Amino acid sequence: MASSSRKAALTSIANRLPKGSATPAGTVAEYFGINTFGARQMRAKLPKDVFAKLQAAIRHGKKLDIEIAPTVAQAIKEWAISRGASHFTHWFLPQTGMTAEKHDAFLTFDENKSAIEQFSGAQLIQSEPDASSFPSGGLRATWEARGYTAWNPASPVFIVESGNVRTLCIPSVFIGYNGEALDEMTPLLRSSDILSEKAIKLLTLIGDKGVDRVGTTLGPEQEYFLIDRTHFALRPDLVMANRTLLGAPPPRGQQLEDHYFGGIPERIQACIAEVEHELYKLGVPIMTRHNEVAPCQFEMAPLFEETDLAVDHNQLVMSVLRRVAMRHGLQAILHEKPFAGVNGSGKHCNWSMSISSDNELDGLNLLRPGKTPHQNVRFLLFLAAVLKGVHKHAGVLRAGIGTSGNEHRLGANEAPPAIISVFMGATLTRLIEDIAAGKQAGKGAAEALISLGVAKLPEIEKDNTDRNRTSPFAFTGNKFEFRAVGASQAIAWPVTIVNAAVAEAIEELTEQLAAELKKTKKVDDAILKVVRAAFRSTSAVRFEGNNYSDAWVKEAEKRGLLNLRRTPEALAQLQTPRAKTLFTGLGILSKEELESRYHIRMERYVKDMLIEMHTLKEMVDTMILPAVYSYQGSLARGAAEAKAAGIKEIASVERANEVGALAKKLKAERDTLAKLIDKAEHMHEDLEGCGTLVTGAGADAMAKVRDCSDALELLVADDAWPLPKYREMLFPV
Ligand code: ADP
Ligand code: MG
Repeated sequence: MASSSRKAALTSIANRLPKGSATPAGTVAEYFGINTFGARQMRAKLPKDVFAKLQAAIRHGKKLDIEIAPTVAQAIKEWAISRGASHFTHWFLPQTGMTAEKHDAFLTFDENKSAIEQFSGAQLIQSEPDASSFPSGGLRATWEARGYTAWNPASPVFIVESGNVRTLCIPSVFIGYNGEALDEMTPLLRSSDILSEKAIKLLTLIGDKGVDRVGTTLGPEQEYFLIDRTHFALRPDLVMANRTLLGAPPPRGQQLEDHYFGGIPERIQACIAEVEHELYKLGVPIMTRHNEVAPCQFEMAPLFEETDLAVDHNQLVMSVLRRVAMRHGLQAILHEKPFAGVNGSGKHCNWSMSISSDNELDGLNLLRPGKTPHQNVRFLLFLAAVLKGVHKHAGVLRAGIGTSGNEHRLGANEAPPAIISVFMGATLTRLIEDIAAGKQAGKGAAEALISLGVAKLPEIEKDNTDRNRTSPFAFTGNKFEFRAVGASQAIAWPVTIVNAAVAEAIEELTEQLAAELKKTKKVDDAILKVVRAAFRSTSAVRFEGNNYSDAWVKEAEKRGLLNLRRTPEALAQLQTPRAKTLFTGLGILSKEELESRYHIRMERYVKDMLIEMHTLKEMVDTMILPAVYSYQGSLARGAAEAKAAGIKEIASVERANEVGALAKKLKAERDTLAKLIDKAEHMHEDLEGCGTLVTGAGADAMAKVRDCSDALELLVADDAWPLPKYREMLFPV
C-alpha cells in the first residue's frame, strides 16, 4: 500500500543525520578554479607568442587560430590528464534548456599498438555530434543531420567530477553546416558583439575615445527548492514534470514569514556548502546563500561576470545543484512553481554594460552615475537606451521568459506580472520626469543639471532603488535587474533579447545624436536633448507602484502595455515584424533562425503541458481514485458492521457519501481531461491550435481535477492517502 511507503519515507527522514560536506584541502582561495584551465594556467604552460594569440582571440571573441590550436590542445591535455581526466567533450547549449555533451576518450594507439593519450588541435576546436536529435525548429531537416560544435575560447575549459570520473569539458557553440545557430550561445555571442559595436560608435560620437569593447555584465541570482529525495521519488508529478500537479494546501505555508533569511538547517547547509566547493573548483564565484520566502526554498548568487561566462556558469550552478543534492539524499527543484500556494522560483538577472579600454575609461560601468556633468549625461544616455529598448521590445522580452513553468509565476501575485515595465526609484524618476517635462530646456547641459539639482548625481542609494520587489525590470543603483526570468531557464536567450533591444536603441540614439550634432557643437547639450526625447517617448513603460495590484493591470492597459498571461500569446511576439526587424536588422538571428526559435519554444510548451496532463490523468487513475474507492469501501464495511451490531447513529455513512460524490466529480473531470489529451495528441500538424487547446481548456481541466482531488485529500484518512503531502515535503522533521 502506498501509504506504507509514505510512512517508511517519514521514518527514514526523521532518522537521517546531516551528512558532512566533502571539503577540498586548503582554503577557498587555494582551490578556487583548480578544475579550470583559464588564462592564468595557459600563461604558465604556453609559449609566449601562442599565449598572446590565444589572449587576442579571447579578447575579441574570435575563433582560435588553427596554427596555434595543436600547442594549446597539448597544454590542455597534459593539464587534464594530470587532473585525472580520461575523456573530453564539447559542452554546449542546445535549445533544450540543458547542456549537452558526448564524451570521447583521449585513448588512442600508436604505430606499435601501444596505448597513448592524444588530443589534437582539431579535436579542441571542433567536433561533430549527430545533430539530428536536438531541436532545430525546422532549421535543418533531420535527414541532413550535420552540425558541429566549435570551442568558444572566451570560456575556459573545465573538468567535471562525477564520482571518481573526471571529464574535460570544452565550452562550445553548436552550429549547422551553413552557419545556422542551433544553440543558445551563438545568438548570445552575436548580441554581445553587436551591442559592443553600437555602444563604441555612440561613445566615440560623444568624445569617449579608445574603447576596445563594451561588454555586458551579468549576475544571476538563482532560486531553488531542496526537498527530501525519498518524497520526490514517491511523487510521479515531481519526477515527470518537476512540479506537484496535486496537493492540498497545508494549514501552514509561508504566512509566518519565518523562513526568509532564517537559519539554514544543518542537513541543507552541508549540501549547499558542497555545491559551493564544487563550484569554486570550477571557478564560479558564488558569494551569497540564504533562505528564500517559501519553506525549503533557497537562493545562491555569484559575483557578476562578463555575460558570456556568467551564462555558462549559471548552467554549471544548475547542474552542480542537481547532482550534489542527490549525494545528500536531497532533490534540487528548479521549476518555477513546484508547489501551489507558496512562492515560486525566479532567476533575477542583474545586468549592466561596462567598458574595456587601455585608457582611464577601462572598467567604467555605463549605468553608474558619475561626478561630472559629462559623466552624468553619458549615464542618462545609456539609461535612456535601456528604457527605449524595454519599451519598444516589451513583447519580445516577455516571449524570452515564456515557458510552461514561468506561466505559473508571472502575474500570480508573488512574482512580477506578465506586464513588462521598468522601475527607476524615486530619485531618478524625479530627474527623468523633470528632464522630460522640459524643465531647464534651453539651458546648457551643465547648468541644466545644476538647476535640476544633479550637478553631481549622488551615488544612487541601493535602498532607494531596491525597494520595489514587484517590478519585472528594476534599476538597482548601477545595474538593471530582470526579475521575471524563470529559475529553470537557460538565461542565454532572455539576456540575448536584452542585449539586442538595448543595442538597437543605442543605434537609434546614435543616429538622433549625430543629427543633433550637425546643429550644435556642444556635445553634452545635444545628448541632453536626445535623452529628453527618449524619456518622453518611453514614459509609458516606467512604473513605480505595486505591480501585483489589479489597479496596475487596468492602468497598463490604458497605457497600451502588453499583458500576455499565457505562453503561446507571449511566444507569438517572436513572429511580429518588430521582432523580425530587431533580430535580422542587427544580424543576431536570420529570419529562419528566429522562426525556428519560435517553433522550438511552442513545441516545448505543448510537450510540457501534455506531459503534465498525462501524468495527472495517470495519477488520478492509478493512485487517487483507487485510494478513494478503497477508503470508501472501508467506511462501507465499518457501517455494515455497525449496523449488524445494532448501532443506531452511523456517522460514516454520511462521510462515505461525501467522498463518493467528490470521487464521482473527480472521475468526470478526469474524463474531460482524457478527452482533451486525446484531442491534443491528434493535432500534431497544428501547433498553434494545439497550443491554444492545452493552454486554455487543458489548463482548466487540470485545475478542476486538482480541485476535486485536493478536496478529497482533506477528507480521506491520512494513512490511506497515497502521496506525500505538502506538510511532509515542505516541513521535514
Ligand atoms: P541584491 O540584489 O540582493 O541587493 P546585490 O545588488 O549586491 O544584491 O547583487 C545582486 C547581484 O547583482 C550579484 O550577483 C552582483 O554581483 C550583481 N551585480 C552587481 N553589480 C553588477 C553589475 N554592474 N552588473 C551586473 N551584475 C551586477
Ligand atoms: Mg536582487
